[in-house]
Amino acid sequence: MEFQLIDRIRERTAQGREDVRLGIGDDAALVAPPPGQEIAIAIDTLVEGVHFPQGTAPADIGWKSLAVNLSDLAAMGASPAWALLALTLPTQAAAQTRDFIDGFADGFAALAQPHRLALIGGDTTRGALSISVAVHGFVPPGKALTRAGARAGDVVLVTGTLGDAAAGLQLLQQGARIDEGDGRAAYLIERLNRPTPRLAAGLALRERASACIDISDGLLADLGHICAASGLGAEIDAALLPRSSMLLGAFDDVAARDFALSGGDDYELCFTVPPARVAEVQTDLARMGCGATRIGRMLESDGVRVRDVHGQWLEVARRGWDHFAA
Ligand code: ADP
Ligand code: MG
Repeated sequence: MEFQLIDRIRERTAQGREDVRLGIGDDAALVAPPPGQEIAIAIDTLVEGVHFPQGTAPADIGWKSLAVNLSDLAAMGASPAWALLALTLPTQAAAQTRDFIDGFADGFAALAQPHRLALIGGDTTRGALSISVAVHGFVPPGKALTRAGARAGDVVLVTGTLGDAAAGLQLLQQGARIDEGDGRAAYLIERLNRPTPRLAAGLALRERASACIDISDGLLADLGHICAASGLGAEIDAALLPRSSMLLGAFDDVAARDFALSGGDDYELCFTVPPARVAEVQTDLARMGCGATRIGRMLESDGVRVRDVHGQWLEVARRGWDHFAA
């Protein structure tokens, strides 16, 4: 049974890559790293009920489990190559497990294929539903983007729009269904379930951004990580936060602002750029479709502060998602 499942995963995610000498099926995979490149490696675990709501479609779980990892590679300016998948599946009827695996693998492959990412191995066990994906990508030596290089005076920018995924989660928790309403709920829930890792943007930011992070826990929390790693502070203008028309149509301005500041799961990039290079970066990222919006700047201080639309400093109650908060 387990081996049939692994075969189904292998068939559905097949991806020919020259640098994979031995993929799924032996005791370990063998790969031939390109000479002279550094390897960026990341792993993320998704637990049902914590990282995705119960009832999420298997294909969406497959997509998201890879997307959150590719987003980490994007934030480093790395290009993806290989992945490992550790699946923990609940005990249930064989047909149900098979359906889950088929949907999961198809959702995973839908994102893996356009990026030529090869699934080269993994592990399959029984227990509460949980998925770990590890990814490997390439980056030229010394060119990776980190959280640590920001300078005072650098401009803070973000790709795409913020707050959509957290709004989608709230709509789901309120019982919204994607097949009802005017399409706003469907759009926001899709942003929660099928985030778009900004890989092309990450590559374009190499040698231009001074620091970069992907927004998984919320803008304030994640920009806070850039501040801590760079030994600086930041101020941002709430009026500049990029928000989708769907978010603004479904929620009032304050709720939409708070989703954009503190909601998690957007998987957009937040990065810092010296002022002289901002225009060029914005032109390039606009060409890539995601765009880049300037939202604030880095300061010689501590922490992140937010100016509201009236120019007052904002008290932000919930600064982001922390799994280990009391
Ligand atoms: P071993 O017991 O030697 O670790 P396994 O039976 O766990 O071998 O795995 C057999 C092969 O299938 C290995 O190549 C492993 O990498 C691969 N594999 C197992 N589970 C998965 C999975 N969920 N996704 C992809 N490959 C998997
Ligand atoms: Mg094993």
